Amino acid sequence: MNSEKKGPEQPEGRGPLRPDRDRREITSVPDGDPAQTPEDLTALRWVDNHCHVHHRGAPADQVTAQVEDAAAAGVTRLVTVGCDLDDSRAAIAAAAAHPEVYATAGVHPHDASGGIDGLEDLLRTPGLVAVGECGLDYFYEHSPRDVQRRIFADQIALAHAHDLALMIHTRDAWDDTFDVLEAEGVPERTIFHCFTGGPDEARRCLDLGAHLSFSGIVTFKHSDELREAAALCPDDRLLVETDSPYLTPHPHRGERNRPALVRFVGAAVAAARGRSAAEIAQLTWDNTARVYRLPAAQ
Ligand SMILES: [Zn+2]
Ligand SMILES: [Zn+2]
Repeated sequence: MNSEKKGPEQPEGRGPLRPDRDRREITSVPDGDPAQTPEDLTALRWVDNHCHVHHRGAPADQVTAQVEDAAAAGVTRLVTVGCDLDDSRAAIAAAAAHPEVYATAGVHPHDASGGIDGLEDLLRTPGLVAVGECGLDYFYEHSPRDVQRRIFADQIALAHAHDLALMIHTRDAWDDTFDVLEAEGVPERTIFHCFTGGPDEARRCLDLGAHLSFSGIVTFKHSDELREAAALCPDDRLLVETDSPYLTPHPHRGERNRPALVRFVGAAVAAARGRSAAEIAQLTWDNTARVYRLPAAQ
């Protein structure tokens, strides 16, 4: 991060602030903060590659409100992620109702005990973009570890069989995650969602050919190792997400998270890489389109 002294009127000499929008974006954040970028983040085109707008059967008008709120902030495309069969059906319904929204279907490690019967039918839904989120969560361990491993392996096999992207959730389970992936074979289009490792884990993921998706955690004060990982990720493997309604990024902590806030994740990643937010918006848009095989523009 940049510790150079900045004047409030013209940070980093990138031109004057535009009074209305910029003042709204940068209220009460500390000096030198990535969220204090002089760029107008809402003027850029963003994509949130992992959120839960349909969260646990949210009413249709709530989904619509989030999609509209996102579009007003420049977030014109989002991937809403299923966590169990019912939740995946809700994700698919949200995608059917909104051309900006794409759905995934999968069984989260928390719900691995419920099995994956019926998942394969959902994966045949036209336009569905990924299997997941699936993986291992040894932090909460809501399902036994051996069941989590088996259900994760089954979903990797489904990603191969249906030629879909694989959306991985892993927490406190790096070694087993890599073991299962290596045993099943790493799908060509694999995403570590809400990547929370440091440089070493980042390199292991990248060596497998996977993509790293950064969430609001990259905006938190104590996330220096994560920002190191964001700095070393190659341009063509970088993604940004909100994982909303969880993990609200700075400077909106305390509020409910939503796709509109992905721009603050992008700004923090840009700061960590010494790049402009505009460059990160463009390359994460392109990478998301490639990884999920979305149309190039929308
Ligand atoms: Zn997750
Ligand atoms: Zn999620």
